[in-house]
Amino acid sequence: MDRILLVTGGSRGIGAATARLAAARGWDVAINYTRDAAAAEHVAADVRAAGRRALLLQADVADEAQVLAMFARLDAEWGRLAGLVNNAGVVDVAQRVDEMSAARIRRMFEINVFGSLWCAREAVRRMSTRHGGSGGAIVNLSSVAAKLGAPAQYVDYAAAKGAIDTFTLGLAREVAAEGVRVNAVRPGVIATEIHASGGQPDRAERLAPQVPMQRPGSAEEVAEAVVWLLSDAASYTTGAVLDVGGGR
Ligand code: NAP
Repeated sequence: MDRILLVTGGSRGIGAATARLAAARGWDVAINYTRDAAAAEHVAADVRAAGRRALLLQADVADEAQVLAMFARLDAEWGRLAGLVNNAGVVDVAQRVDEMSAARIRRMFEINVFGSLWCAREAVRRMSTRHGGSGGAIVNLSSVAAKLGAPAQYVDYAAAKGAIDTFTLGLAREVAAEGVRVNAVRPGVIATEIHASGGQPDRAERLAPQVPMQRPGSAEEVAEAVVWLLSDAASYTTGAVLDVGGGR
């Protein structure tokens, strides 16, 4: 049977690496993105080159209506999914909390928290045996920022990722007897374009000396953990939050 995976924010970085590795491990991959269709198409081409099916799904995960439409299209084109990676996420420029606008804080939670909740809810509605599904696995992308708090950088982002950790634990226990496993990966400093989007393109290299392993991680190293948690090899693992941070 085809194993159908949806990766949100799959057009670059950790999401793209996850899509590619999952395809190599036998998953058909639906790739969600918001803006960069060309980058998403590039990832889709790699998935197809690995011999698996790829489907591009444009949707802003912060918008519930767009998430519902995305899942409806996935149902119609491929059927029920067996895996979801809640990877779409954003940071913002370094600011103290007493400098932050309400709009910034709202966006941080709408994309990083609400988006993951909408997608997880829709996945459980399709995967859970309670809803006639045949099980599945959800992996949420948290961050070591949830442990560190990210003072004077982005406490709002850290707090949003803290919510993801708690959501992972609660949802995992809620659906554990319904064939659905829910876990999180907490990456440390990973060399992707997310740092440039927060106005610090050199952040990963700059922080390397603060990482016990003395280097940033790669998107591929995070993808290994994500794809393992999706797989049957992790069949007794649920409610786990796995640090992939070089010791950070
Ligand atoms: P990235 O390179 O900036 O990629 C982000 C991806 O998310 C892109 O594909 C982007 O697509 C998509 N995206 C952004 N907003 C979206 C929205 N509203 N709806 C749907 N897709 C959206 O980020 P990354 O570094 O790979 O990070 C991936 C995840 O890991 C995030 O949750 C991040 O918080 C987490 N993480 C990263 C690090 C790190 O150091 N890199 C560390 C800890 C945790 P478009 O370009 O098309 O908008």
